[in-house]
Amino acid sequence: KNYSAAEIKKITAEENVQFLRLMFTDINGIIKNVEVPISQIDKVLANKVMFDGSSIDGFVRIEESDMLLIPDLSTFLIFPWGSEHGKVARLICDIHTPTGEPFMGDPRNNLRRVIALMQAAGYSRFNIGPEPEFFLFKLDENEEPTLDLNDDGGYFDFAPIDLGENCRRDIVLELEKMGFEVEASHHEVGPGQHEIDFKYADALEAADNIQTFKLVVKTIARKYGLHATFMPKPLPKIAGSGMHINMSLSNAQGENAFYDGTTDDGLSEIADHFLAGVLEHARALTAVNNPTVNSYKRLVPGYEAPVYIAWSGHNRSPLIRVPQARGLSTRLELRSVDPTANPYLAIASILAAGLAGLEQQETPMSPIDRNIYGMTADERRANGIADLPSTLHNALKALEKDKVIQDALGPHLYQSFMDSKRHEWNAYRQTISEWEREQYLRLY
Ligand code: ADP
Ligand code: MG
Ligand code: MG
Ligand code: MG
Ligand code: MG
Repeated sequence: KNYSAAEIKKITAEENVQFLRLMFTDINGIIKNVEVPISQIDKVLANKVMFDGSSIDGFVRIEESDMLLIPDLSTFLIFPWGSEHGKVARLICDIHTPTGEPFMGDPRNNLRRVIALMQAAGYSRFNIGPEPEFFLFKLDENEEPTLDLNDDGGYFDFAPIDLGENCRRDIVLELEKMGFEVEASHHEVGPGQHEIDFKYADALEAADNIQTFKLVVKTIARKYGLHATFMPKPLPKIAGSGMHINMSLSNAQGENAFYDGTTDDGLSEIADHFLAGVLEHARALTAVNNPTVNSYKRLVPGYEAPVYIAWSGHNRSPLIRVPQARGLSTRLELRSVDPTANPYLAIASILAAGLAGLEQQETPMSPIDRNIYGMTADERRANGIADLPSTLHNALKALEKDKVIQDALGPHLYQSFMDSKRHEWNAYRQTISEWEREQYLRLY
């Protein structure tokens, strides 16, 4: 909704809002808050609140530390859960430099920049429908997360006394109060694992929604004595948590540009080129869409997560699926993305890959309608099927070779992303796992 500053002042007064939470997202996809008492509302609405950017990971160098928080008034909402100190409202903010320029180390500003490139290419919207999955673990008596799953239900199971089920219902209700249109919510394959799908939105709003969603899920889970985690693979031998990204472009008239009723598969040339671009840049995209060491523990064979670069309209195993629906619902589904991805960076990068495919008029490889996991390495090679990167390290190397995805992040974010992720990989390399001790301690 497009609120004016005056409307926001009026609503906060009527609703007795006591605190304003100014939110933005750091490079790792973590929500950051600057909370101010309602007495500061004029300053907030006049774009005059500053914060020390050097305290945020990957934001700024010390010499340029003071940054302005510019609230996006359309993101105003009052959290439905109360606090003993009164209601809290939030505004998602863009970060500007003290001189008023959009700060390019801010992932949200960067997504706006890539959306503008899309608009210049003649498209009006990049529609994004995410399917985030998460696990619910029990909290112990010290409120610390355990690895105890709170139920042992299976896919679409109806467990009679299921704390997780109740918790998920509550999450859905809270989301609806906040204006989300929840399309489906269900138990996932893994025990204690859940998925909630909400209706697609335009790229920037969709990224905001993903961040809000994670916050709501974690907040409500706490009320049930549970810890919600979006870690991609918390437990071995159980399917990990992904966040499939459904996407389509709207043309200047607002129609689905991926649909063409005159072709034999109902997909437009625009869809073909876009698909080709995402496939072409899939390896570098993985660094952004699967940005943690743990992300790659999910991208292994045997758990419905993609491992190979291919697409299909029929089976669910490949990297990109084209669901059968046509007309308004014509879309591509990228199945590799996981919820540790910074949604602003992920959506900007996917969009840039697709736009590059359109610009170069790329043709996608042929669809692979058989089970890729049943193919030998030679068969995959013969069908032009490459592997996704198998580790964060390999994904970063792919990103280092991909100018299109580097440009999608812009120089500032690319540099801080690389620095932060190399650091993460190097820290991981120095650890010795239980698996290694079990394998080698006695044997050698
Ligand atoms: P799946 O069959 O993979 O489980 P879901 O039905 O759970 O798919 O989720 C589909 C998602 O795709 C929803 O978020 C929905 O809003 C979204 N979606 C539907 N049409 C489009 C479209 N044209 N562009 C982008 N996303 C879309
Ligand atoms: Mg789904
Ligand atoms: Mg799922
Ligand atoms: Mg899906
Ligand atoms: Mg075609």
